[in-house]
Amino acid sequence: MVTESKAVELPRALTVKELGDLLSVSAVEIIKELMKNGVMASINQVIDFDTAAIVATDFGFDPRESDTAEKAEVLVERVTRETVDEEEDPATLQKRPPVVTILGHVDHGKTSLLDVIREANVTASEAGGITQHIGAYQVEVNGEKITFLDTPGHEAFTAMRARGSQVTDIAVLVVAADDGVMPTTIEALNHARAAGVPIIIAVNKIDLEGADPSRVLQQLTQYEVLVEQYGGDVPAVNVSARTREGIPDLLENILLIAEIQDLKANPDRPAAGAVIEAQLTTQQGPVATLLVQKGTLRTGDALVAGNATGKIKAMFDERGRTITSAGPSMPVKVLGLHEVALAGDTFEVVKDEKVARADVETLKRARDAALLREAHPVNLDSLFGEIHSGILKDLNIILKTDVQGSIEPIRHSLERLSNEEVQVKIIHSGSGTITESDAMLAVASKGIIIGFNAKPDAGAKKIAESEKVEIRQYSIIYNLIEDVEKAIKGMLEPVFIDVINGHAEVRQIFKISRLGNIAGCQVLDGTLHRSDLVRVMRNGEKIADTRCASLKRFTEDVREVQSGYECGIQLEGFNDVKEGDIFEFYHRAQQT
Ligand code: GDP
Repeated sequence: MVTESKAVELPRALTVKELGDLLSVSAVEIIKELMKNGVMASINQVIDFDTAAIVATDFGFDPRESDTAEKAEVLVERVTRETVDEEEDPATLQKRPPVVTILGHVDHGKTSLLDVIREANVTASEAGGITQHIGAYQVEVNGEKITFLDTPGHEAFTAMRARGSQVTDIAVLVVAADDGVMPTTIEALNHARAAGVPIIIAVNKIDLEGADPSRVLQQLTQYEVLVEQYGGDVPAVNVSARTREGIPDLLENILLIAEIQDLKANPDRPAAGAVIEAQLTTQQGPVATLLVQKGTLRTGDALVAGNATGKIKAMFDERGRTITSAGPSMPVKVLGLHEVALAGDTFEVVKDEKVARADVETLKRARDAALLREAHPVNLDSLFGEIHSGILKDLNIILKTDVQGSIEPIRHSLERLSNEEVQVKIIHSGSGTITESDAMLAVASKGIIIGFNAKPDAGAKKIAESEKVEIRQYSIIYNLIEDVEKAIKGMLEPVFIDVINGHAEVRQIFKISRLGNIAGCQVLDGTLHRSDLVRVMRNGEKIADTRCASLKRFTEDVREVQSGYECGIQLEGFNDVKEGDIFEFYHRAQQT
């Protein structure tokens, strides 16, 4: 008798536990059912609608995708999208200014460079107003605009990435000519690399007597930065923030890289982008600087920015002048949000404020699901699952050691563990304590941190805890390598082999109109199980590959039948049995 199946609405993505709650079935039952369908999942694992629907059907439900699921899917896409233009129709795209971040060691002149670039390149039309710090500014060079983020340093850069925003198109790595490459220079370099952002080297302070720009370029070669002067493809420019020498050259190089990158966006759509800065002011309430990444932002637009919503009451440029619209790559300070957004949050214009408020809830959920699904923090124990579900291809490691000399041998041993499925990448290494910046990089790059005789500081511990970043500490190299190796072995796709359990020969066919044909068989060898897969062999040839549908001794359903006994067998979707057919019973097992 067919019972009517119960309708159930499922979201686009949900955890195993949530599915259990929706179906009023224990999570263990759900996990078992998933296993039957070849999916290994833990209770907190997020599964997609299609997978959940199969399980729901198995439990007698009629699953349907909920409306909010559709909406959530769109939002998940928004949340997880890295490049903002990929789904746009190419015909709508127009050139946009590059967004540049200045990185480098402290005191090498980042702030000074940002200041001279801003002062020297104010266009006549933009003159006037008092320069304000809003987190970013635009200058004009040879009729082309460039946007600079004016919170220099890789900490802010990586913190934005960790929150899901990638706004930087080009990184300028500043190295003081008198001081040379410093540990933070390399840290900044690795942060830019991990983000896949092209780099320009600015060798600063060339006005100083002890300046030795060629030494800087030489030092950089040790870190696989090959500048154009040495036949590489990284531009390097000598500059002085004091004398302004080389600044035009630096800006032209930025435009050149931008040209090569072919940066484009569609200005004719509702705006979307990232929050650059945000604070609560006593006079104006919540204030945020937004960087428009696509579309055009207008006064009166309703928007969602992270968990904040509102309607733009007023917009200002970095000179404090009121503007009414802002296109791609333009930073604007906005008033009208009801809450304080967070730097690095993405923002999006929506139909009206009501939608904005509704979206925040859906977005929160979508983001949680997306985080679980896409940006789920990695740890060595979960690597196998990540790889298995196709989420992870690289194992990104940040390696900190007590002494510099330990780095290379460990790096070498770890990178050698790479295989066809998993690439082990040391995205940053250095000596000293594990810092907040290391932890942020791990979050942004979905990596893990390994300390060899190196401990995390308080800041790193805090982030590791809140963002669930794994910090593994070792004092014996062998244990370190072995742990990663084990994790990678777990990462390998399991190899399944067929294990033959037994054979049965068909001796007689019983035709039962209600049920179809039942094959009366003799078990020739082994043990047949009700749950087995079955190949049907006729005259030595395989004619069907299916599974056992029912196994009976006399009229009793049984779980297994052993060699020498007779039994009745029905196969799933195969009724054309003949006397003399051989049923080969087998199951799939993971090769160890
Ligand atoms: P940041 O920490 O990287 O932002 O560095 P700052 O911009 O604060 O500069 C650090 C110090 O270096 C300041 O005292 C600057 O005046 C000085 N400085 C920056 N650029 C130059 C330069 O091109 N030449 C010289 N002589 N000094 C510079």
